[in-house]
Amino acid sequence: MSDLLARHRAVMPNWLALNYSEPIEIVSGKGNRVVDASGKSYLDFFAGILTNMIGYDVAEVREAVERQIATGVVHTSTVYLLRGQVELAEKIARLSGIKDAKVFFTNSGTEANETALLLATYARKSDEVLAMRQSYHGRSFGAVSVTSNRSWKNNSLSPLNVHFLHGADRHLVQFRGLSDADYIAACVDDLRHVLATSVSNGVAALIAEPIQGVGGFTMAPDGLFAAYKEVLDEEGILFISDEVQTGWGRTGSAFFGIQNHGVTPDMMTFAKGLGNGFAVGGIVARGDLMDQPHAIGLSTFGGNPVSMAAANATLDYVLDHDLQANAARTGEIIISGLREAAARLPIISEVRGKGLMFAIELVDPATKAPAPAMAARFMEETKKLGLLAGKGGLHGSALRMAPPLTLTEDEAREGLGIMITALETINDEAR
Ligand code: PMP
Repeated sequence: MSDLLARHRAVMPNWLALNYSEPIEIVSGKGNRVVDASGKSYLDFFAGILTNMIGYDVAEVREAVERQIATGVVHTSTVYLLRGQVELAEKIARLSGIKDAKVFFTNSGTEANETALLLATYARKSDEVLAMRQSYHGRSFGAVSVTSNRSWKNNSLSPLNVHFLHGADRHLVQFRGLSDADYIAACVDDLRHVLATSVSNGVAALIAEPIQGVGGFTMAPDGLFAAYKEVLDEEGILFISDEVQTGWGRTGSAFFGIQNHGVTPDMMTFAKGLGNGFAVGGIVARGDLMDQPHAIGLSTFGGNPVSMAAANATLDYVLDHDLQANAARTGEIIISGLREAAARLPIISEVRGKGLMFAIELVDPATKAPAPAMAARFMEETKKLGLLAGKGGLHGSALRMAPPLTLTEDEAREGLGIMITALETINDEAR
């Protein structure tokens, strides 16, 4: 055990799940690569769990942050006018497609979802909320109640009254063999059934991830959320899209993930990549919802000037370089390459994703049971070959990758090659 790992174990909680049998200490990064304490370089296909959306040591971001620091850093508090917040809010409001949108900044995705739930439950005077099976929205008291992924909620009590809907769980026996249209119709029927039978006080909102991040990049078919929205609109139930993983063009086919479903939500929450490593989250919502008298700022450091400088520079970079189109282009190289590999490697049961958000599901070829041990092997093999990947999903058998949106086509092919080499090794071992 390294000295740092021993010190980590001594003073940090044992539920922090470190990746790899010998965990890595990342000490620097440049472009789409990072370097560990031993000097080994890795192509980063997980980007700090989607935080470094445009890679490492980006001059535009570094200079913007340095300019802010040179001012003395100055105040965070929203009792003063904060130019960086106003500028970023204008951009996000415009990009959101939400009518008369207003924006509020937090430090994290969890706080953003907490804010959205506060606003929605207050607006609708109800503590009843709809969420999706296998979801993850954070670990604060409100956010954890709408999280259904059992690995993340098993020891928490819930302050909200939550009903969980179907979306990405199409493998269930009652849905097998259904076309997209029939599956969507079955899900809508279930939603109507929940509303008719399980709700006592009216429902405040539905909160959903367009692609479930922690859930293993599982997806409802395009169009499902539009069908849900029609039903919600009949009763004035609000729609909150959690864009913490799917925002800013990552899916390639839309700027916000929910737009793939043809839905304009009432609120969207965001975080992770927007600050390219600096802590920033927030919510963009219909102005009438945001302006409720109840809604008062959630945290002192939300929207702090250094994070705002980083976020403004990052968002400008994404737009100036049309990184959404890059995500579509490079993601297609990887996803189609993985699908070709899946056709000949029986350990792969599914390749799914959109743009630069893609996952590989591993199974035991004989039993078709989820194979978390193989996923752990993949992590070790790709580490050896110089690639950082992620894993997750309900059974720990999904490999999930979300490289920086700045990935080049050469890097896409390089990472694809490493993944396929690792998958071939594991497939051979399984025979
Ligand atoms: N929503 C989603 C979809 C997420 O993936 C996460 C983080 N994994 C969160 C919310 C919580 O964000 P944060 O960790 O910044 O609080």
